[in-house]
Amino acid sequence: MQLLTHSIRNGIAWHALGSGVIAGTTLKNYAGENADRMAQLEALRGDLGMEPALIAGGEQAHGRRIETLGADSGDGVKLFPETDGLVTAERGILLHIVTADCVPLLLFDDQAGVIAAVHAGWKGTQQRIVQRAIETMTGLGARPERIKILAGPCICQAHYEVSPEMAAAFAEEFGDGCVEGHRLDLPAVNLLQIRECGVPENGLYQSGLCTWEETALLHSYRRDGQAAGRMITFIVLT
Ligand SMILES: [Zn+2]
Repeated sequence: MQLLTHSIRNGIAWHALGSGVIAGTTLKNYAGENADRMAQLEALRGDLGMEPALIAGGEQAHGRRIETLGADSGDGVKLFPETDGLVTAERGILLHIVTADCVPLLLFDDQAGVIAAVHAGWKGTQQRIVQRAIETMTGLGARPERIKILAGPCICQAHYEVSPEMAAAFAEEFGDGCVEGHRLDLPAVNLLQIRECGVPENGLYQSGLCTWEETALLHSYRRDGQAAGRMITFIVLT
């Protein structure tokens, strides 16, 4: 697979992946309010070099609900309630999530033409939201062995100390390897779940960037608290 990287205004780095998939990461200048989010998404239209029929996202709730978008899902910009994952097999529907430490995951099977965007914080990770997204994609014709996944910038293990109870719960469910002391490796738990579904190693891409460390580039809720902005991460079939 070839990765073509471009930088465009507003700090978006995006990649054209395989045949007809555009995936984006880290739109930094976003303050967290819904109205602001809508405005930034509208601005994104102009930068994409395409006009998505629908820009879809979730009113993220740290749950495991996945919204499946189809030709009848409408147009404009829509946020679905209590939704942390989005899947579609339709061209021209942009799926996006917002994060600031949680793991943003983009999934695609470009042979089947099925994509997904997933917001995996600790609650969604504990509820195996990425596995639900892969199951939903499979229902639309994707095959795990063909799925490629980008794990975007998130908080790294060294900077993610959690309560002893939470560390113990994750170690029990996902193995001792995901905790060190009381520090939780959130991306590693998601990758573990992805591998369990049969996605091959050569289909996994990680940004390697830590939101907490990259003060000039990325937002971090742990670092900046309530005032933290969010990164927008998106994917669209063209
Ligand atoms: Zn870090």
